[in-house]
Amino acid sequence: MYKSVIIGTGPGGLTAAIYLARAGLAPLVIEGPEPGGQLTTTTEVENFPGFPDGIMGPELMDNMRKQAQRFGARFQTGWVNEVDFSKRPYTLQVEGIGEVQAESVIISTGASAKYIGIPGEKENVGRGVSTCATCDGFFFRNKKIIVVGGGDSAMEEANYLTRFASEVVLVHRRSELRASKIMQDRARNNDKISWSLNRTPLEVVAGERGVTGLKLRNNETGEEEIIETDGLFVAIGHTPNTRFLGGQLTTDDYGYLLVKPGTTETNIPGVFACGDVQDSRYRQAISAAGTGCMAALDCEKFLDEVEAAQVTV
Ligand code: NAP
Repeated sequence: MYKSVIIGTGPGGLTAAIYLARAGLAPLVIEGPEPGGQLTTTTEVENFPGFPDGIMGPELMDNMRKQAQRFGARFQTGWVNEVDFSKRPYTLQVEGIGEVQAESVIISTGASAKYIGIPGEKENVGRGVSTCATCDGFFFRNKKIIVVGGGDSAMEEANYLTRFASEVVLVHRRSELRASKIMQDRARNNDKISWSLNRTPLEVVAGERGVTGLKLRNNETGEEEIIETDGLFVAIGHTPNTRFLGGQLTTDDYGYLLVKPGTTETNIPGVFACGDVQDSRYRQAISAAGTGCMAALDCEKFLDEVEAAQVTV
């Protein structure tokens, strides 16, 4: 049995691993199919403090992993299919590892950006296609960008991208936007944003040097058209990776884990959440790392209290 198991190896999970390992708890870290999380799909990370010249996403994650290993964190590759949080120790059924028992669990399985699912999209991630304006907007200085989506994320990304881009075209599949009025108004009042509504994206057009356009169908006329662009930001939402929890933890309407304000405690004692799986708002590597630290400290405190209670009994 493990004192603590961490599920997920993004900045949240790995920071929790560094802290718990340094505290002598030798956590088991379960690494899923995308070790390192979303940062391993990006190129250069320029906004993680401590790297004045930037650092490549995969290298940053590799460094965090080595740092956790140095203090005794144990890594195993596996896919958590099921959990049982009805009694302690908690039980995890992990494909590739088997049954794992733990006194405490930290969930840091992240969230995955949704993609439209059109040809040319996934192939050009990092070559003009992005799902993160904060991460990649800087690379589109004085360039034309398309943002796809009609919700608050799309409005926010479009507004943010006007800091860099010469022009932002917002493409949405319906005439009505889903976004809140205040976010819509902000985007509508921005001179750099133009609108291409009632258009369904069909294909990302790319050349040797990356994205050059987006092929669309005009839903009113049925005609197809191509809008030229240097970049395509897909802002149609994220899916938090919580399905394996089988509804045992409380979530919001979008599936993000709910934690007690100011902590990383879920509704089950000894089960903590950090990183994007509990954060639909900031979604940054540094904020994920921050909550990873909090989860480890909350977890240590929980284990101390359990031990103290056992001694008293
Ligand atoms: P969302 O509200 O679910 O909106 C997703 C948008 O993407 C919708 O307009 C949807 O079109 C479109 N879409 C979905 N699948 C698509 C596809 N395959 N092809 C083309 N378009 C597609 O997601 P979100 O904007 O990420 O917001 C999620 C939550 O976070 C909301 O509660 C939001 O208020 C919140 N949020 C808040 C802020 C803020 O307040 N600063 C910022 C971001 C997000 P349809 O409308 O046709 O379905």
